[in-house]
Amino acid sequence: MSTAYLEKLNDRQREAVEHGIGLPDDEIGGPLLIIAGAGSGKTSTLAHRVAHLIVHGADPRRILLMTFSRRAASEMGRRVERICRQVLGGNATSMTDALAWSGTFHGIGARLLRIYAEQIGVNVDFTIHDREDSADLMNLVRHDLGFSKTESRFPTKGTCLAIYSRVVNSEVSIGEILKAAYPWAMGWEDELKQLFSGYVDAKQVQNVLDYDDLLLYWAQAVSDPELADDIGSRFDHVLVDEYQDTNRLQASILMALKPGGCGLTVVGDDAQSIYSFRAATVRNILDFPNEFSPKAADVITLDRNYRSTQPILEAANGIIGLARERFTKDLWTDRQSLQRPLLVTVRDDADQARYVVEQVLAAREIGVTLKQQAVLFRSSNHSGALEVELTRRNVPFVKFGGLKFLDSAHVKDLLAVLRFAQNPRDRVAGFRLLQMLPGIGPQTAGRILDTMAAEPEPLLSLAEVPPPPKTGDDWTSFVALLSRLRRSAAGWPDELAAARAWYEPHLERIHEDPDTRKADLVQLEQIAAGYPSRERFLTELTLDPPDATSDQAGVPRLDEDYLILSTIHSAKGQEWRSVFMLNVVDGCIPSDLGAGTTSELEEERRLLYVGMTRARDSLALITPQRFFTYGQNVQGDRHVYASRTRFIPAPLLRLFEQTSWPKVTATGIERSSQQVRVDVVARMRSMWK
Ligand code: ATP
Ligand code: MG
Repeated sequence: MSTAYLEKLNDRQREAVEHGIGLPDDEIGGPLLIIAGAGSGKTSTLAHRVAHLIVHGADPRRILLMTFSRRAASEMGRRVERICRQVLGGNATSMTDALAWSGTFHGIGARLLRIYAEQIGVNVDFTIHDREDSADLMNLVRHDLGFSKTESRFPTKGTCLAIYSRVVNSEVSIGEILKAAYPWAMGWEDELKQLFSGYVDAKQVQNVLDYDDLLLYWAQAVSDPELADDIGSRFDHVLVDEYQDTNRLQASILMALKPGGCGLTVVGDDAQSIYSFRAATVRNILDFPNEFSPKAADVITLDRNYRSTQPILEAANGIIGLARERFTKDLWTDRQSLQRPLLVTVRDDADQARYVVEQVLAAREIGVTLKQQAVLFRSSNHSGALEVELTRRNVPFVKFGGLKFLDSAHVKDLLAVLRFAQNPRDRVAGFRLLQMLPGIGPQTAGRILDTMAAEPEPLLSLAEVPPPPKTGDDWTSFVALLSRLRRSAAGWPDELAAARAWYEPHLERIHEDPDTRKADLVQLEQIAAGYPSRERFLTELTLDPPDATSDQAGVPRLDEDYLILSTIHSAKGQEWRSVFMLNVVDGCIPSDLGAGTTSELEEERRLLYVGMTRARDSLALITPQRFFTYGQNVQGDRHVYASRTRFIPAPLLRLFEQTSWPKVTATGIERSSQQVRVDVVARMRSMWK
């Protein structure tokens, strides 16, 4: 059997790939941790390992592979397939198609919960709330309890959800979470407890699960040794990428599935831990080696970076080198280059946008496609000016981590129809749907939902509900649609077409630009055709929705060349030839919002490291002298003066090439705008001497 694919690996990667394979009696190897810095080939090694397992006869249906996003999972699937094809030829595709258990923790959790619904005690028809739906439900409960009316300074629905989520994911008490992260809300502890308990009841009654529930129920299920054994024995191998961004619950699930660690491989980099705001903890990866008995996990570290040029790597190493705590060591590379990363001073947001577009287009001229370039930023609202400029200059782009396709109102409307048909106790979906009908407001909608909820078969009972006044034919066609969807008479995905046909007249009435919105819905139907059932479609779209694009329709046209815009968080694990980072200034990175405590500040530093290490050949960090903050404070939007991020202190400046844009010429001498500002300040000062 040809194992040529192993020859490209370095010794330690190869050791990781072959770990525990080919043992006598097909014994499966003990736990393995691969811990190493960015671009050292962790993900690539994991893909090789999966392929190597399959080549050596492992059953792909019994491999559980968990990645950070569905995108990462499908990319991994493609890599595995490529490698397997080298060895197995044509059979490879069917092999990796069978790699059915790959996805995110949440996605896998949702699938297992449906399979084991009865044992776990959830109703198998549950629907899943995304964060916005969850916040809406939180709001409904808050409203019922009267907190929103009486107390205007009560935390917003989004903050309530964030606090709730943090408590359940970290297994830390609410009091401590409030003290550490929301001290201004400490006076509300009792009310929050009451609210959260109401929220839990509401989810229960309505048969909905939120993101956190997917992990909570899963963890609960596997805390029963029999069930844990049952679920664990479905999988011979469990592999997890980006382990540094898992939380306690996820770690406890893994340990319960594979108590001795047999067949368990986890991969990560403590220096890239950037999700502690979702209760991820770097302790998971640091503690991993000693979680098992009788034998501790084997640990393999990698120290060669294959991604970035030497100057880029040196700058990134320099920045992470100032971190307070770090386990992984500096990396080395043999990719020499004379080009240091750029530190570009621009005047403001608008210049920053113009600079990026100009450089991106210039790079395209010399053969770097748009897809090989990316623009990264700390927060989704930092790319506004750039999006405008790109649109003005007709440069197609896709934005990751920002507004999602599914966030647009019309798409949510149509999905609400399906969700309500799937689970008529889902009040958030029900409210949305009923209020589309003319003549139905929140009160009537609430009454109808109450009536339905009291029935054992809510959708059947809908026919008995007297038509609300002034709804006329709209009500009749609504009832007819739901009865059709309930019976799934149309089959999947035709039932989506039926729902769309029903919705379109409402869309025309509700929205001003119906044509582009209708085009979106057609595309939604095309996406739906790729899923085997309504339930899988709803689940997976809710957990990991597609991203919005520059074009109105909102769905990436994947055959085209386009520039990637992404938050740093969503750029995890990826790489581009050329990377631009916006607003590398204090206040943005570290963010004003995220720099309260030392550990938050350290996380911001790691975030900068993650961003910089995405670049292969060229990297530009941009520092506007002024930038806009968008309404995050009571004064609303405003311009503030900015200075270079504190993560690049003066001694590190030698690692960068400093430049400014545009070059300002005054009296024939080329001067940076920085210099101009210094001059102006000097003149103003001298006026008062
Ligand atoms: P991150 O920490 O950012 O997730 P990573 O450690 O997962 O990075 P990969 O994305 O797997 O790193 O690999 C980085 C790049 O290095 C990829 O382009 C990959 O193809 C390449 N690479 C990895 N190992 C080798 C190797 N042995 N020979 C040549 N190229 C390699
Ligand atoms: Mg990776």
